Amino acid sequence: FNSRYRKMFFPFHEDLVQEGETFEAAIRRYVEEGLVDLGDQDPEAYIAERIARHRNPHGTFLQQQTDGRWVQIDERKTEGGGIVAVGTDITSLKKAEIDLTLARDEAMRATRAKSRFLANMSHELRTPMNAIIGFTRLVMRRSKDNLDPKQYGNLEKILISSEHLLSLINDILDISKIEAGHAVVQPVRFELQEVIEDSLKTVEPMAESRRLELVERQDADLPELDTDKEKLRQILINLLSNAVKFTEEGSVTVAARHRGGRIVVDVIDTGIGIPKEALDHIFEEFSQVDDSSTRQFGGTGLGLAITHHLVGLLGGEIEVESAVGAGSTFTVSVPARYVAPEGADLTKAAS
Ligand code: ADP
Repeated sequence: FNSRYRKMFFPFHEDLVQEGETFEAAIRRYVEEGLVDLGDQDPEAYIAERIARHRNPHGTFLQQQTDGRWVQIDERKTEGGGIVAVGTDITSLKKAEIDLTLARDEAMRATRAKSRFLANMSHELRTPMNAIIGFTRLVMRRSKDNLDPKQYGNLEKILISSEHLLSLINDILDISKIEAGHAVVQPVRFELQEVIEDSLKTVEPMAESRRLELVERQDADLPELDTDKEKLRQILINLLSNAVKFTEEGSVTVAARHRGGRIVVDVIDTGIGIPKEALDHIFEEFSQVDDSSTRQFGGTGLGLAITHHLVGLLGGEIEVESAVGAGSTFTVSVPARYVAPEGADLTKAAS
């Protein structure tokens, strides 16, 4: 052995190993002086195992010492019939690895706590919001003929603001559910046509108020789908609402086709478009192209993040192409038949 061996394995006890003694004697002293961290292992068992391994070396192994250091040991036979052992102090590497693991666990715990908090809060907020909306509607219905138009108009404003607030709360609830891993895919059989028509109906009033043309185009050979209908509907409604929201004149088109077991849907608008540098971040949470468009159009920047998550849950992909001033095309492609990913049995069981 060299002097580094003494320093590494017998810190502060360097005179405990003497030249000429056997490996067994050195290991025994290493254990008896309490220098190696044995965990729950029996000292004699450790000594026996260590000697057997030394005589018949196979690959490197790690050993922790009671001084907190991690040593990597590499033993091999030499041609002359001897055995050479090389020890490397990898404490700083090991510490970095442990720190990283701790930091990751901590971050994951924090994310779960955040999602739980958001889910609980949104739930608590929804109940009173629904009461406000319900009672405002009731008062409006009962007093339409008795109230002066200005007062009635104020009630309408309460209703619009409350509905807006409720939709924001629902967005936050959706995203926290997905992030907490609580979103469950429930495949059913249905025709794409139904979902497209449903989604178009939702945006029709807004499209009409802006005099936008809504266009529907479909290949003739679309197969019956077997995937989560509600999630697909939410995806289309989100994309269509954005298309209508960010288009001041022209049209919004939904075009569907069938490609190699997948359904591909384009949502095409002739709106304001999205600048190149914003395209990379558009699917991130709270991402909005610029504050002025938000002030003008409203929104939270959660819609596309939710849409992106939902498409991922269905095993699909979403892409966007856009030119400022000319319009945007969002393309969603999902498997016509949902296949649960490996190890997703739990999710299924929860449904
Ligand atoms: P929100 O619409 O609530 O702000 P989204 O996540 O749905 O949030 O959209 C994020 C941002 O992406 C929008 O604020 C807007 O700047 C931009 N965007 C989304 N869809 C379109 C579109 N069809 N045309 C132009 N910009 C869009």
